[in-house]
Amino acid sequence: MKYHSNTLFASRDEKFIAILGHDYYSTVLSIEDFSKSAIVLSDKRVYQVGKVYKSGFHGQSGGPWAGRGKKIVNLEDVTGTTSKELTKPVIGYMVAAIGIILGSLGLMSGVQETILTVGLIGVAIVISGIFLIFRLKRKYLIIEFAGGSISHPVKFVTRSELDLFQGIISLEKDRCKNGFTDFKECPYCAEKIQVNASICRYCSKEQKNHQA
Ligand SMILES: [Zn+2]
Repeated sequence: MKYHSNTLFASRDEKFIAILGHDYYSTVLSIEDFSKSAIVLSDKRVYQVGKVYKSGFHGQSGGPWAGRGKKIVNLEDVTGTTSKELTKPVIGYMVAAIGIILGSLGLMSGVQETILTVGLIGVAIVISGIFLIFRLKRKYLIIEFAGGSISHPVKFVTRSELDLFQGIISLEKDRCKNGFTDFKECPYCAEKIQVNASICRYCSKEQKNHQA
């Protein structure tokens, strides 16, 4: 199933705000194709598309179970966002350390063939350690809402990018809750003003029916 803003959003007047996911750049480049794993934010809702992750985590090794589809949450229901690092890549660090120790021992031996073979083995072990560190690291963005949560892997997302996205969600959520429905048209000048305004900010006419 392919998604773009026309097929993804629940209502036609919804506006695309931001996107975050593994395929951030490819998604941007492929022009509104949200089919890959991503979190898409509109001015009304949060969507998780592509790989959809179950809320809750299984044990310490596994991430959340994933299926394919989409998950929708109204922005008004969002209670907050956090990021969580699930697995500590300790084993990776240990393997890398063993490689470094082995390599150093080889260097200290002073025998040229030993330096070469043991050194190479050391380097190979360090590389696999670094690989493990990367593999075992699991970072998720958690979007909490009334009745559940969305978790999304953000291994390739930078800290500042994640902070920015969380900021945008909270801004849009506030705007959804506060502004938005609380506007009406001024009967004199037809500008949009707050429902509770006693005086129009554009034409200064007094408003009837305002709730004091
Ligand atoms: Zn007015």
